[in-house]
Amino acid sequence: MTTRPYIVGNWKMHGTRAMLAEARAIDRAAERLLKVEVALAPPFTLIHATRKEANLIGIGAQDVHAAEGGAHTGDISAAMAKDAGAGFTIVGHSERRADHKESNALVQEKATAAIAAGMNVIVCVGETEEERDSGKAEAVVGRQLTGSLPTGEGVAEKVTVAYEPVWAIGTGRTPTVDDIGAMHRHIRAKLVSIYGEEGQGIRILYGGSVKPDNAAELLAADEVGGALVGGASLTAESFLGIIVAAAEAQDEKS
Ligand code: PEP
Repeated sequence: MTTRPYIVGNWKMHGTRAMLAEARAIDRAAERLLKVEVALAPPFTLIHATRKEANLIGIGAQDVHAAEGGAHTGDISAAMAKDAGAGFTIVGHSERRADHKESNALVQEKATAAIAAGMNVIVCVGETEEERDSGKAEAVVGRQLTGSLPTGEGVAEKVTVAYEPVWAIGTGRTPTVDDIGAMHRHIRAKLVSIYGEEGQGIRILYGGSVKPDNAAELLAADEVGGALVGGASLTAESFLGIIVAAAEAQDEKS
């Protein structure tokens, strides 16, 4: 399994075709930074066009429906996202868990459907501020992992986990490096208990207010294998600052 840091941009509900120039610039720069695996998850409407613009970086969806098809107005199946050019999908982002009342069981169904359609998945977990303040963060994240992760033969190699404390998303606040390391070690132990030895190879990304100026510090935390980036992935300039920091961190490790 690759040990390259994995830096994924989540464009959320941002972007029209005018933003394809950013994707193009990110892709061109990624060609010079091959120590880092780079990917973008644009909105569904831009997946196909972004795939056509970008030769090197991964392109993914931000969500898929759990069903293969049917009467689900406004939804997109994994096979449709894949057909549009997505090689992976994010599932269980806290904004979907909150806005669409997505349960762990539904997130697991979506992850399973995506893998069955031939995609990789980034499964998001993370505690709220109240849960952290009351000392429940590890228990909450542990339950999310047990309930949301897909299981079965050959599945572990398709999975990436993103730890995104809800209170750090889009707020400019981040946990301390020690707290990130502690949570990532907890997640690693859980992955090993779920997948056995294969759980050691699963990448765990940190997400929540990652910016060019804090990326090096956050990426150096224990067990952090990359970052899921929201706001700072919207322009090539700021996203590349994070990718360069990841490449430098990789140089220091080797
Ligand atoms: C996210 O929503 O996945 C995220 C990490 O957002 P931001 O980087 O803006 O905090």
